[in-house]
Amino acid sequence: MRPTLIAGNWKMNGSLQSVIQLVEDIKGGDAGSAKLAVCPPAIFLMKVGGMLEGSQIALGSQNVCDQASGAFTGEVSGAMLKEAGCQYAIVGHSERRALYLESDALVAARFAMAQQSRLIPILCVGETLQEREDGITQQVVARQLGAVIESQGIEAISNSVIAYEPVWAIGTGKVATPEQAQAVHAYIRNLVAEQDAAVANKVQILYGGSMNPTNAGELLSQPDIDGGLIGGAALKAADFLAIGQAA
Ligand code: PEP
Repeated sequence: MRPTLIAGNWKMNGSLQSVIQLVEDIKGGDAGSAKLAVCPPAIFLMKVGGMLEGSQIALGSQNVCDQASGAFTGEVSGAMLKEAGCQYAIVGHSERRALYLESDALVAARFAMAQQSRLIPILCVGETLQEREDGITQQVVARQLGAVIESQGIEAISNSVIAYEPVWAIGTGKVATPEQAQAVHAYIRNLVAEQDAAVANKVQILYGGSMNPTNAGELLSQPDIDGGLIGGAALKAADFLAIGQAA
């Protein structure tokens, strides 16, 4: 039985004051037995890391540089994220892929640097609406995951988390049905199992895309859905905690 992880991706939202309030509310609440992680904007990582010290809630970043240090203006290194108290680093979020043109190869390099920095990468994969309608969901997910497996090896997947996030469900209120999500999760797990059954059995695969307290229970009860990567609903402590309780 894989443990459940509920991770909140706060994206570029909030202020110092609202972030402090959100952390206090999450810390003071009850998320049942699910493990929680929060991924605030980079500028607030140190502050939130300090507030989470001694708590069970993990800290994550929304990205990580593919290079160790040097002339990479605007980037944040894995070592810096580790120093801020991060345990996780999201890589390959669809907003990074679509808006900042991050390629599969760059995402794989960011994944590698996260692991070299002893961070657990949360690797996001998922198809656009057009790709789903064209019937190529599996090819897209296989290509995105394959880029990491080919460069890092299948063993690297055992120290990572995969997040299946259909792009058409992110921030749209259009959630994948539990059957649609489960089908892709099972496909991803099978892809890993073809190379290493033990890794496939161990790796947590999160669902992301308009998950909320109302739809979380059914999604999280699917056999291959091991948690959620939550955007909008993670900005309200009560909703975020309720998703944890639904797990
Ligand atoms: C996300 O951006 O990772 C996400 C899942 O967003 P939302 O929950 O708002 O769809």
